[in-house]
Amino acid sequence: MSDYQVSQIQACRNCRSTHLQPYLTLPPMPLTDAFRKVDEKGGDFLYPIKIFLCEDCGLSQILHNVSVGKYYEDYRYTSAGSKFFQAFMRSLAAEVWRRWDLSPGDSVIEIGSGDGAQLQCFQELGARVLGFEPSAVLTEVSRQAGVPALKQLYTPGSEKDVPADMMPARVVLLTYTFDHLPDPTAFARTVLPVLDRDRGLLVIEVHDLQKILDRREFCLFEHEHSVYPTSATLQAMLDRSGFTLIEVGLLPEAERRANSLLVVATPKGSQFSVQALPPLDKGPYSTLDSCRHFGQEIETSIAKLRAYVADRRGKGLRVAGYGAGGRGVMTLAAMAQPGEIAYVCDQNPSFHGYLTPGAHVPVVAPAKLIEDSVDEIVVFSFGYFQEIWDSLAEFRSIGGRVISLLDLL
Ligand SMILES: [Zn+2]
Repeated sequence: MSDYQVSQIQACRNCRSTHLQPYLTLPPMPLTDAFRKVDEKGGDFLYPIKIFLCEDCGLSQILHNVSVGKYYEDYRYTSAGSKFFQAFMRSLAAEVWRRWDLSPGDSVIEIGSGDGAQLQCFQELGARVLGFEPSAVLTEVSRQAGVPALKQLYTPGSEKDVPADMMPARVVLLTYTFDHLPDPTAFARTVLPVLDRDRGLLVIEVHDLQKILDRREFCLFEHEHSVYPTSATLQAMLDRSGFTLIEVGLLPEAERRANSLLVVATPKGSQFSVQALPPLDKGPYSTLDSCRHFGQEIETSIAKLRAYVADRRGKGLRVAGYGAGGRGVMTLAAMAQPGEIAYVCDQNPSFHGYLTPGAHVPVVAPAKLIEDSVDEIVVFSFGYFQEIWDSLAEFRSIGGRVISLLDLL
């Protein structure tokens, strides 16, 4: 995989300080979506993931960039098939619409719009919508569904690609995209030219470092995630970019995906900036001693997962996984060697017939659990645990055990 080049940066991605201290190093890990064909030859891209804390602004981050070439153009991950996720997207659109008085004809732009499912929810409420999406596959799916999307990254100057009658936008949305950017603070500034300066909203969903560390969810530390904000560090980043944070609890936690931090900001000086939140407490997630403690706990969790796999193999039991999204891929890469896990089930047919990167586990349809059963299945996508548990009634009825990843960490 010589397509991938790694470069190092020396300064904080937010405040440019060079006072950066490492507190966690994961073993060499693959890129989350670098699935392989079964007969593909050659090695994976594997590189250690080292997490640093900026001692000046308190933001956790990695200091390496992987130049991914066409990686995102081939991106096919989408969780849109899930009923839970559909309900989340509808609630998100409805809540933003209601709270900030959107009207039919208002424009909503999503950066990293995937298959267009989130924009469709705004479209159904009457919005004019446009997505920016680098993946050719997902752009096509979006257009087929009637959601206009440009097959491109959003970069400085991209506001010129937005149709004039959609300017300025009432809402710019980034769900699980902002924390993928090499320079998110500079990126947020590039959004200002498309946004309504008086009534504009920037809605951002990222993975919440507070929840990652509390749950010791090392699998969320990925090459693709450049920064690991908390609500407090996100507030500081947005402030530096010309935004005021006005909401950190947009939807009840039960309606959001695991680890979701869902915030709303507005351009400084807009009519909504009176809703500004007071400076948020950074808590133990921005101090070196506590981060080092979290780092040690995570290293212990990885050792426990490896011990679990060794124990089941020792007893002659077959183990499978459920969920070939980022969480499943990265957990498998850290816990298992090729051949140790029978397969991983996923409902998304576009994964089927591939191997996960790193651990090389075949991805199959859930029906495999009945045709070629295993003794235990570990559910990686535990945010959907109840839904998956219910769908595995037949597997459970023939004696299969269903385990949440959270119970093994
Ligand atoms: Zn900093």
